[in-house]
Amino acid sequence: MPQSPDEDLFLAIDCKAPQILQLRDDLFEKKDLEISMLRLDEIHPIVSGNKLFKLIYFLKEARDSVHKTIITFGGAFSNHLAATAFACGKLNLNCVGIVRGERPKTLSHTLMFCMQHGMQLEFISRSSYRQIDKDFLNELNNKYGKHVLIPEGGFSIKGKEGASLINNYMRNKNFSHVSLPVGTATTFAGIVDSNESGSEIIGFGVLKNFYDLEERFANLKVDSSKKYSFIGDYYFGGYAKKTAELISFMNWFYTKHKVPLDFVYTAKMMFGIYDLSAKNYFIPGSKILCIHTGGLQGNDSLPKGSMLF
Ligand SMILES: *Cc1c(COP(=O)(O)O)cnc(C)c1O
Repeated sequence: MPQSPDEDLFLAIDCKAPQILQLRDDLFEKKDLEISMLRLDEIHPIVSGNKLFKLIYFLKEARDSVHKTIITFGGAFSNHLAATAFACGKLNLNCVGIVRGERPKTLSHTLMFCMQHGMQLEFISRSSYRQIDKDFLNELNNKYGKHVLIPEGGFSIKGKEGASLINNYMRNKNFSHVSLPVGTATTFAGIVDSNESGSEIIGFGVLKNFYDLEERFANLKVDSSKKYSFIGDYYFGGYAKKTAELISFMNWFYTKHKVPLDFVYTAKMMFGIYDLSAKNYFIPGSKILCIHTGGLQGNDSLPKGSMLF
């Protein structure tokens, strides 16, 4: 895994180094583009993608503590909760997931997975979730004792620093562009902040009305001299929304490249990459690396049979 001091943690979770796969297509050839993909989805069969990177320094802190407990937050389909549960299970850490919304009669695939890996779930109403404050956090202390608290989606400087380890895989490869999907923007912040290659980093937004990127970068203390681009046109209705066109694109993409995409993040980015290539956004000769940020467990919430994979 990464040439970083935290290699041992990735190894303890049985992660392997990701490959870079070149995507071949007549369109890219015609436009003189070299497009490849960093397969973070393949670092681990169960918890793939960017989430482990964002978690790594929190896991380290909990592992090195006496209390060995992590508490975090998320919705019923959260890749972040799933990754946290799995990693804590592997590292023998206690973990609690505070879940947005009342406990449903049947738990989502994601929440079942979290429980199976030892995460204790606590459900709170959507309105309380929105108003999580100091009192609520103090209450967690009383209830669960000392712990490492991870903000929702890992949105934090520590999360950013973990995400910046992803840059280790693209050093000295001369990519003109590096693209990734953007949710909380923590991963984007990590890649931008630690970029020393001169590549243009392009974030593809997956939320509708996502207007506070600059504020997020300021909160995460991203070096303001670093350049980046943000493209907000490929959200397909909004977060975790989809269209028939997106689903058929995913099936087409799988048939063509044998790479599964998730409908919440990576499919929207790759649709954008295809569309922008066709519209001559990239100058001929560009060498573009797309980061597959994983998240494939999210596809379990699609109706059975939607996907060819
Ligand atoms: C969470 C997630 C993202 C977004 O990461 P942020 O750091 O929140 O921007 C992108 N892709 C996948 C597959 C994810 O699960």
